[in-house]
Amino acid sequence: MEPGNKRHIALISVHGDPAIEIGKEEAGGQNVYVRHVGESLARLGWQVDMFTRRVNSEQDKIVNHHPNCRTIRLEAGSTEFVPRDRIFEYLPEFVNNLLEFQQENGITYPLIHTNYWLSGWVGMQLQEMQGSKLVHTYHSLGVVKYNTIKKIPAIANMRLAIEKQVLETAHTVVATSPQEQEHMRSLVSTKGNIDIIPCGTNIHLFGGVDRQEARAQLGIDPQTKLVLYVGRFDPRKGIETLVRAIGKSQLRQSENMQLIIGGGSRPGHSDGKERDRIEKIVGELGMGEMTQFPGRLSQEILPTYYAAADVCVVPSHYEPFGLVAIEAMASRTPVVASDVGGLQFTVVNEETGLLAPPKDADAFAVAIDRILSDPQWGDKLGMAGRKRVESKFSWHGVAAQLSELYTQILQPVAKEVVLLA
Ligand code: UDP
Repeated sequence: MEPGNKRHIALISVHGDPAIEIGKEEAGGQNVYVRHVGESLARLGWQVDMFTRRVNSEQDKIVNHHPNCRTIRLEAGSTEFVPRDRIFEYLPEFVNNLLEFQQENGITYPLIHTNYWLSGWVGMQLQEMQGSKLVHTYHSLGVVKYNTIKKIPAIANMRLAIEKQVLETAHTVVATSPQEQEHMRSLVSTKGNIDIIPCGTNIHLFGGVDRQEARAQLGIDPQTKLVLYVGRFDPRKGIETLVRAIGKSQLRQSENMQLIIGGGSRPGHSDGKERDRIEKIVGELGMGEMTQFPGRLSQEILPTYYAAADVCVVPSHYEPFGLVAIEAMASRTPVVASDVGGLQFTVVNEETGLLAPPKDADAFAVAIDRILSDPQWGDKLGMAGRKRVESKFSWHGVAAQLSELYTQILQPVAKEVVLLA
């Protein structure tokens, strides 16, 4: 794109603020995705406005990330944290405030990329009201998620209907893995356009430190067998499977083994319940001494944790993509992951790590032990993981694919051709 010819586009992420600290409560992969996609698109010449819901009156209304990329926080309902399953009723106000922002700033976004079904609903309104082209990424599909949980929320039917409508009416839906595309086609609708563009990671940040240096920084003995989990405390993440697997590990008694469970807020937040539950299981299995809960890990310190680990475990019951797996791989750390969703795409079984059936603590124990007992093979898996991420999952590469897609969508229809026909 020529300088001076910057196209203004909007990314919408109602519940996932791209400018907020990651790893707490509901802040996870979507926040990271929107922020990096926005910043990378700005570097490619797009003028990017990222819209989210303001959850605290002390938050800035606008955060600048780059001269061409900013987060804009709009009011919708009272200015406080509301769990995502209870945000829907505030969306009309969100749409009105977005329209008002456009008017005040003399902008009409020709293209809007929405994230998660709540934002998809907002995008559909703007598509209808002002003809904006709509691109959508689900991040999570209700129809898949509701199969993995016991308590179905009251909003479920609304979500399922909107997810179907978005696929059928958006210009394009971006699936982040072939597995997600398959779920959309078989479980959501056979109508609508789908493009596959994966999530990405920062290949300079992750992989910039080696294991020895990382362990020295964290004060971890070079002989320790270190198993790492990174992510939110949410039952869907399957932390219990990991804890029980370590409880069953053959190496647990004989080796100097350590488990680090990173992520989560301080007590008193909505994810505290799951953390208490996991800590209780750790205690019951007599693993208190070998297990650490360092809490939320900043993006600055995370590369050191990944590099220090002998294996990173992603035991999710369901995972549409799973950024943690590619962050670990970029850090040359082998991954043991559940054989589900996007993890089947990112982790190549026996090449960059191992896949195990979800919720199967025995299978996870075997997989973790296989890697820990053969460090040379572990290194080989780690190197192959790094290569895979470099070639497929850099933010720059992902943003270049999105940029190409947007450019195609925004190409003016050749009027002359239409007139001649
Ligand atoms: N994360 C973080 N600090 C933490 C825990 C998680 O920065 O303490 C980040 C992690 O690096 C990753 C994201 O949160 O980029 C989690 O994304 P993923 O797709 O793995 O899971 P989600 O949260 O979307 O379910």
